[in-house]
Amino acid sequence: MAAADSSDNAVAASTCAHCQREIPSSNIALHSAHCARNLQKCEHCGDMVPRKLMDEHYEENHAPMNCSLCKCTVERELWDIHTGIQCPQRMLACQYCEFELPAADLLEHQDVCGNRTEYCQTCRKYIRLREWIGHELQFHTGSNAAPAAAGQPVPRPARPAAAHGSQRKQILLTIAVAGFAVLIGSILY
Ligand SMILES: [Zn+2]
Ligand SMILES: [Zn+2]
Ligand SMILES: [Zn+2]
Ligand SMILES: [Zn+2]
Ligand SMILES: [Zn+2]
Repeated sequence: MAAADSSDNAVAASTCAHCQREIPSSNIALHSAHCARNLQKCEHCGDMVPRKLMDEHYEENHAPMNCSLCKCTVERELWDIHTGIQCPQRMLACQYCEFELPAADLLEHQDVCGNRTEYCQTCRKYIRLREWIGHELQFHTGSNAAPAAAGQPVPRPARPAAAHGSQRKQILLTIAVAGFAVLIGSILY
């Protein structure tokens, strides 16, 4: 189908039985021999690949990938999904303290982290971090603010960042002390 070539002597073309490409008839014999000997159709993508490079082609394009984080073998088509939302060891930031930790540990951490309180200057009381957004919406949104913007992403409440770091240290200390107490307790009993 050398349609583009409209001259009388349009190059007659034949289809190579091996690679399915249109080859000028004058070359078809030579091509076929060469093609069959050297090229192989990739069973994964259908590309014609030099036989010698087939392993390389497979490795580079189709071989499952190893996730260095969770040590899983992942199909190449699923790689983006794996690293994006599935890998249990991918690093995610805690929504409360922004500390990054593996996804598998995030829920447990956020459970604890969200239970911490922070002092609301306006209300003069301590509010759990997990209730901050609701608290801000309920008590501190301007009168004109969209009524309770249900279902919309809510901007992160502005928290006193300076106090935050020291509070975190304090919590670590508390945990350490509590752990120590448990240890003592278990020795005594
Ligand atoms: Zn061919
Ligand atoms: Zn391929
Ligand atoms: Zn992984
Ligand atoms: Zn946290
Ligand atoms: Zn408040």
